[in-house]
Amino acid sequence: MAQHPDAQPPASHFIDGAYVEDPAGDPIDVIYPATGKSIARLRAATPATVDRAVASAKAAQAAWARASGAERGRVLRRAAEIIRARNRDLSVLETLDTGKPLSETLVADAASGADALEYFGGIAAAITGAHIPVAGGDFVYTIREALGVCAGIGAWNYPTQIACWKAAPALACGNAMVFKPSETTPLCALKIAEILVEAGAPPGLFNVIQGAGATGAALVTHPGIAKVSLTGSVPTGQKVAAAAAGGIRHVTMELGGKSPLIVFEDADLDTAVSGAILGNFYSSGQVCSNGTRVFVQAPVLAPFLARLTARLQRAVIGDPMDEATNFGPLVSAAQLARVEGYVAAGLAEGARLIHGGKRLDRPGYYLEPTVFADVTDRMTIAQEEIFGPVMAVLSFATEDEALARANATDFGLAGGVFTRDLARAHRVAAALEAGTCWINAYNLTPVEAPFGGVKRSGIGRENSAEAIAHYSQVKSVYVALGPLEAPF
Ligand code: NAD
Repeated sequence: MAQHPDAQPPASHFIDGAYVEDPAGDPIDVIYPATGKSIARLRAATPATVDRAVASAKAAQAAWARASGAERGRVLRRAAEIIRARNRDLSVLETLDTGKPLSETLVADAASGADALEYFGGIAAAITGAHIPVAGGDFVYTIREALGVCAGIGAWNYPTQIACWKAAPALACGNAMVFKPSETTPLCALKIAEILVEAGAPPGLFNVIQGAGATGAALVTHPGIAKVSLTGSVPTGQKVAAAAAGGIRHVTMELGGKSPLIVFEDADLDTAVSGAILGNFYSSGQVCSNGTRVFVQAPVLAPFLARLTARLQRAVIGDPMDEATNFGPLVSAAQLARVEGYVAAGLAEGARLIHGGKRLDRPGYYLEPTVFADVTDRMTIAQEEIFGPVMAVLSFATEDEALARANATDFGLAGGVFTRDLARAHRVAAALEAGTCWINAYNLTPVEAPFGGVKRSGIGRENSAEAIAHYSQVKSVYVALGPLEAPF
């Protein structure tokens, strides 16, 4: 039962510039997380549709790679303009897909996607090789080439942003992309595909196919795929990277985290509380870089917790379409059950529940913003990625201790430090084993800054000029100017 005119797309897949159905594919019910009701029905791509999407992308890619960077950039920038002009419609669709409040999606999702298209549209014409002088007046020049057809596979928390963060650098470099959104949030990427065609991208350059892990696996191992960029969990990343390795394909892995957020006694406590709220409860906690292990220096633990719980009373939990709402449901019944399991584990292992912890008595997948104090390093809620609104607060005595405990994890996506001590801020940021660190801030990911993980949180970087290296390869051309000598 569609609740919004755009919820049910004309067909499940977008290939070669048009909507395409695959009647043999398994059905996918799209559930609006705020009601638990189905708003659209799609079908997964069978291998025949995966083939068709890759073949169409391959056909489009050759001419696209030959176009000038300036031409490619213009298309991407036009797409960014269209996205901005349709921000409200796209934000409503993002809310229907994910359940995130409109107050967030109106400013965070399509906007961030447009930023990526604009940024990579802006630098497409500046992707060049180098001139390298060598002995005897000879020289080498390098050509930065496209890889071919890239596969993009998305998680469900930021469906528009993830599609754009992958498509923009890929297309800027002259690649085509076949994108498979999460089966939980399949709607938004289709709109990005439509908009790219409207902006002048050749049909087939950015195709979207639907499906769960099996479709993703068929895409990753398709012989026509040169690179795989996944946003997902560590276990999926391990499977996808291993499958991609079979064909020696390039990979970018944007995976999970259990990031530390360290609050020193000299920090501005209100700023630190804001950071902890942003880093745990934005998007109902479903953010990969969240600072879910909040280490607070012992002397300020009590005032930190007092201010935090006072601020949490101000959360407006409710209908995501009401712009006054600033905290919405989790994405699915399965995710809610998973997160509730972690709340139960926190209680069973002796953490002190100081806020939330309960489901809301209303339809949809709502769980209160939840805070545990007295958490210790070995508790499950301090070790595993929960991907929901559950904050674990731990206390520490010294900087060395905080750093050692913060780094004692296989994850390495992000980290935050709150302090007024300039030297300490930079010392801690340098010592944290993480791809992104924030000083007196949290979860800000502007397109200008590289984003990605170390350790098991990932390989490669999205955003910034760094992403270009991950969507292109370099050819060296040696140019001899003199006669060539040979031993005989
Ligand atoms: P997930 O790992 O379950 O699924 C991610 C995607 O991979 C989905 O599209 C899924 O269909 C697909 N997939 C599953 N098995 C596959 C296989 N064998 N081959 C190919 N594709 C397969 O993740 P999720 O539950 O959708 O998202 C939550 C996770 O994503 C969290 O761990 C979160 O931290 C992570 N995440 C990371 C980032 C980042 O940038 N680092 C951003 C958002 C989310």
